[in-house]
Amino acid sequence: MIRVSRAPSPAELTQQVQTELIAEFARSEASVWNKDYIRSTLMAMSHSKCVYCEAIVNEESKYMEVDHFLCKSNHAHLVVDWFNLLPSCKRCNVQKGGYDVIAEGDIVDPTRANPKDHLCLKNYRFKHLSTEGENTIEVLDLNNSLRMTKVRFEIGESINERLLDADTIYRQVLGAVRPMRPLRRLTRTIEGLLDECGPTREYSATASTILTGSDIYIKLKAYLEAQGQWTITMGIAHAVAVDAAMPCTN
Ligand SMILES: [Zn+2]
Repeated sequence: MIRVSRAPSPAELTQQVQTELIAEFARSEASVWNKDYIRSTLMAMSHSKCVYCEAIVNEESKYMEVDHFLCKSNHAHLVVDWFNLLPSCKRCNVQKGGYDVIAEGDIVDPTRANPKDHLCLKNYRFKHLSTEGENTIEVLDLNNSLRMTKVRFEIGESINERLLDADTIYRQVLGAVRPMRPLRRLTRTIEGLLDECGPTREYSATASTILTGSDIYIKLKAYLEAQGQWTITMGIAHAVAVDAAMPCTN
């Protein structure tokens, strides 16, 4: 889970439109929030990812669902309130179901809170740092070993494998008579790894946690800096990864 900046409300969602849609929902319980302008703005806001589990939701099998942070069953007046709508995958939306964050306990809304204040990652499992974090893990079933933990493990192990490759290239650089070519390859490999941690990438919190916490990465970053190969772009990507990373400190 990473922080998400709330996009401005779509221009089409005027006060009058909201009043009409709330009335329509009261009459028919129709999915009045399923408007293209709502869905596309939510998708752009989260880079086509579920705000809770960071699964990409534009694939055919994982259509985006509009999650009502305050559930529509108990808070019907917020059924098209822009600040109550979040893009979610089907799995997370089904898990959350009719859970009432006011009556049953708050969970993390990544457009309002920084998830890493409430959750951290250890061995590909979320641990809680607050009651909201504890509720979030339970309500969304974020440590479901068959699904969630497995995908995080796969992302993390792919990062670790690529770091081992980078370390091999690093040793080639040290042993080379003409080190420029392997040095460029090393830089490109690290750039590729940092790219995996960007906010548009699936499970970027996991990738960022594994990468920035890796001794190999820390060593190679220091080496590239000393060689004058650490670019401003890499520095920005590194800062983004550090911000998204959520390692448990104990
Ligand atoms: Zn999800």
